[in-house]
Amino acid sequence: RPQLRLQIQINLFGEDDRLITIKDVTRIHQLEKMRRDFVSNVSHEMRTPLTVISGYLETLSEQTESIPPGWQRPLATMQHQANRMEALITDLLLLSRLETSERRTGDAVCYPEPLLRQIQQDAIALSGDQQHRITLSIDDSHAIQGDENQLRSAFSNLVFNAVKYTPAGGTVQIRYGVDDDAIRFSVTDNGSGIDPEHIPRLTERFYRADPSRSKETGGTGLGLAIVKHILYNHDGHLSIDSTPGQGSTFTCSVPIERIIREGA
Ligand code: ADP
Repeated sequence: RPQLRLQIQINLFGEDDRLITIKDVTRIHQLEKMRRDFVSNVSHEMRTPLTVISGYLETLSEQTESIPPGWQRPLATMQHQANRMEALITDLLLLSRLETSERRTGDAVCYPEPLLRQIQQDAIALSGDQQHRITLSIDDSHAIQGDENQLRSAFSNLVFNAVKYTPAGGTVQIRYGVDDDAIRFSVTDNGSGIDPEHIPRLTERFYRADPSRSKETGGTGLGLAIVKHILYNHDGHLSIDSTPGQGSTFTCSVPIERIIREGA
């Protein structure tokens, strides 16, 4: 028998009146679990055949002398699409792990400074000939309680998006600091920006503000859903501020209690 799940809502009316609603959400939880398991199983099953296909494509493309001239482009396209599919499977598996994992990030320790410097270097490499100006400012270097791999994934998704959605030569500013009540990590770009109507839905799986543009950039459509889950695991949240045609700022806020003060 599945565990019974109830959702209790209490509405207050004036001083004394309360409306208490109890809803049985057991079935919804069961269906959610089935969906997660299905996605995770399919992703696992697709990984092995895809690894074999990619391996053979790579071997084939190395035989430069024996490939007939007309075959080079189709081969490169097949390789490109196989890489996209691998990225998609990796993101689907990460997302399903994040959805099923308990929020147990309290004990892990993360050092933000080396992490962010590495992400900055990776973003410069991603930008390549496009020569974005990618700056980093770090105002606090205390270690924090958090899962380093998850935070790396969240921050790099935001930084790489800024590079992807900003024309060549644009700027991407990465900032990290602590204010009165939160640890904040933000990325500001002067790229395409996002229409306000899309903003509330951007963290949904596969939601894209501009599907044709996103296809060009080669993203999986899962990046912001992953970021949202990682922040949830760290009791934090993502906020998005954007002006179409001018640029966007994505900010991750995590409770200040996660800072590890020396001697504490
Ligand atoms: P994708 O793989 O399509 O980039 P994401 O989940 O990372 O998927 O992002 C969802 C959508 O949000 C993108 O398709 C794009 O429309 C929009 N987006 C994300 N970051 C930016 C940004 N820095 N500037 C403009 N649009 C962005």
